[in-house]
Amino acid sequence: MSTGIKNLVRTLDSVDFLKMDRRTFMKALGAMGAAAFLNTYQADMVKALEEFPETKLLWIHGSECTGCSESVLNAGNPDLVQALQKLNINLAFHETLCAQQGIWNDGKLVNNAELNSEILQEEIYKEGKYILVVEGSIPNGPDGSGRYLVIGNKPFKQTLGEAAKNAVAVVAVGSCAAYGGITSADSDVAKDTDYRGVAFAKDDSSKGMLKELGIDKPVINIPGCPAHPDWVLLTVGAVILGKIKIPDDLDTLLDEYGRPKVFFPPDHVVHDNCPRRGYYDRGEFDEEIGGPGCLWKLGCKAPYAHADCAIRKWNGSVSMCTQAGGPCIACVEPGFPDTSRPLFVEREDIGVAGTNIDTIAKVAVGAAAVAAGVHAVRRMGKGE
Ligand code: SF4
Ligand code: SF4
Repeated sequence: MSTGIKNLVRTLDSVDFLKMDRRTFMKALGAMGAAAFLNTYQADMVKALEEFPETKLLWIHGSECTGCSESVLNAGNPDLVQALQKLNINLAFHETLCAQQGIWNDGKLVNNAELNSEILQEEIYKEGKYILVVEGSIPNGPDGSGRYLVIGNKPFKQTLGEAAKNAVAVVAVGSCAAYGGITSADSDVAKDTDYRGVAFAKDDSSKGMLKELGIDKPVINIPGCPAHPDWVLLTVGAVILGKIKIPDDLDTLLDEYGRPKVFFPPDHVVHDNCPRRGYYDRGEFDEEIGGPGCLWKLGCKAPYAHADCAIRKWNGSVSMCTQAGGPCIACVEPGFPDTSRPLFVEREDIGVAGTNIDTIAKVAVGAAAVAAGVHAVRRMGKGE
């Protein structure tokens, strides 16, 4: 490690990374690389953990594909087992990982918490003091009953309410839990199913399911389809280590859609650091998947995707969507997927998260004006 980086590491050692301004955060990531950066904080966390009591994690699943759990199982910095051990987390309940099953006999729960997941869940609710992680959206339909998703003889809407009441913190993992995600996409049945996120329905915080249930609890949203494992584990870790004080710190740490700004910076989009950005700036756009150029014409929505994917990267910091040749679909935005549709088709007229894509694209094009070529000229020429 060079002396410059060593000095930077020393400086960062005393800093709470979730409270860093974006410039420092980006500088640190750029200088050290995401893996080294995270390792630095991993060591920091380990130190703090020695005197750390066990924290229970209750992880419940609504309507989803379990992709976010899968993503977290693939975590690398730290991996899930390291995180559980080092953060002293007791993963007390995770529907797809726990061995128990719900067992009913003549309409009554039988056996005990070691065998019956429903009893286990109820015991955890009673004990309280757990962090609640919600994966998946929550149907409100039909007619407000929530019965489009019933687990263990109970609408999931009710399960969420019971689980949220005694939680010390609520983290909505993935775009479905955060905003409704794929399940809330426009369709002929969307009004009937009425899928909601925990604290938002798309970008509307007045329609979140907790509000519907009359429960006033702050929620941290970690969107993504799926959510990046670092976003999940570092957020849960920061809550456990008291680096995020709930609710006091949330106003400053989260953006208007409940996302930690450090991972979803309001003034940074995936496009800013895309490995293909040079092609965009030179106006070299691919017309077919599989080429080396910019994917804008193939429907890349990265110019309005607020996330650090291009810096942090995925799969152990190896690659990310556009690097691997797939146009970004802005899966972290509250309006996803409708605001990204049609996928893989160039769109120039959609508004996302309170900002017009044209405005953002124009700024991006403006910044690259010298080299942006035909693309920029055409867009500006349209008076957008
Ligand atoms: S439009 Fe997409 S592929 Fe092109 S530079 Fe931006 S992020 Fe990369
Ligand atoms: S690059 Fe875009 S589509 Fe891929 S994970 Fe990040 S925000 Fe989602």
